[in-house]
Amino acid sequence: MMDCKKIIIKNANIFLPSGWLCGSIGIEDGLIKSISSGNPESFVAEPSDELIDAKGMAVLPGLVNGHTHFSQTFMRGLAGGRPLLQWLRELIWPLQAEISVEEMQLAALLGLAENLRCGVTNVIDHHKITRTMDHTLAVQQAAESVGIRCTIARAWVNKGKNPENDQTILDELAHWFEKTNSSEKVNFASGPLTPWRCSAELLQKTHQLAVKNGSFTHIHVSETAEEVQMSMDEYQVRPVTWLDQIGVLDKNTQIVHAVWVDETEIELLASRDALIVHCPVSNAVLGSGIAPLRKLLNAGMKIRLGTDGPASNDTQDCFENMKMAICLARASQNDANNISCRDALSMATSGNELVPGAKADLILVDLNNLHSSPIQDFDSALALCAKGDDVDTVLVAGEILMRDKKIVSIDEEVLIKECNQAVRSLRKRAGVDS
Ligand SMILES: [Zn+2]
Repeated sequence: MMDCKKIIIKNANIFLPSGWLCGSIGIEDGLIKSISSGNPESFVAEPSDELIDAKGMAVLPGLVNGHTHFSQTFMRGLAGGRPLLQWLRELIWPLQAEISVEEMQLAALLGLAENLRCGVTNVIDHHKITRTMDHTLAVQQAAESVGIRCTIARAWVNKGKNPENDQTILDELAHWFEKTNSSEKVNFASGPLTPWRCSAELLQKTHQLAVKNGSFTHIHVSETAEEVQMSMDEYQVRPVTWLDQIGVLDKNTQIVHAVWVDETEIELLASRDALIVHCPVSNAVLGSGIAPLRKLLNAGMKIRLGTDGPASNDTQDCFENMKMAICLARASQNDANNISCRDALSMATSGNELVPGAKADLILVDLNNLHSSPIQDFDSALALCAKGDDVDTVLVAGEILMRDKKIVSIDEEVLIKECNQAVRSLRKRAGVDS
């Protein structure tokens, strides 16, 4: 990776909370040092310095992909019209049970590279392949080699099919949380799969362990109506209420999906300051439903966008995800003002801002193309016209990870070839043909 002492981005259209500024950004020691209108009069370069001309490009905070599953890059395109639970049982779980450490590392590299190419500088991998700790280590190493920020939410279940031992889950989480403290870009979280696969007692213990270590709980909740019914049958309360009753709903809880939440649950989520991860494309592909996005925003919720895994999306394109968030919310409410392009950009960047002192995690998006021209409104050009492939340059902590649409650390052609070979072998072993 190129390690630059100083970077100047000139001729940039810069995304600011108040609107757009045409000017330049100065970066030093991994931080944004300056943002100013116009361009610097002079730039005295050291050999290691970089001057980036962003003419025709928009500069945004890096996108945050709030939820995916890297293992599912090897399960892309297999939904085949199945609803969630059938899809899990017939395809996803058999393939996950067979994946080797080497295959996991390749799947993670492919997922990370795809996220980076689409402008993601921070991603949460809900890591389901926990058969051995080497599988988890393979993801950590892949993330470190690609260089984007990554939280590995170590998934676990202790109810239903193939439950794990409670103590193993606690010991492994404790091990990975120790790693969190020693690594700046790759961190760990607790990733219980769903309320219906996890006991109240272990949810409480893992949540307390996560919070003690400065981390959080990341969990799928109320993705389908069927799951809400399962909670009613077992506990006589809806899933969000149940999580609150057992003490794992607070500002350190990330609720993924929240498609089937009622007014009472929305109030509860807001009062506990939980984070919502909205996955509009995945919810549409699996026919799960449309989350009440405007109601969640009106309640003052913190909301991120997530692609979910490639098995239910089927890409990691966060620009497509933004557009779908807007379109589904507007269509479901018959209201063209329901979600604005600014709302979508804010959710996609997790509310991060380009300000002096902030980490230099930012992206340059090339709008000099047919599908964005003529540019009359930058918000709509980015949220409704741009595609993941339009991302030209990506910086994380001031390091250039992609430049001129070329990822610095990975030979994409070689990676694609290796993944194609590996997935054929995996499908054969798992007995999955489509
Ligand atoms: Zn998911």
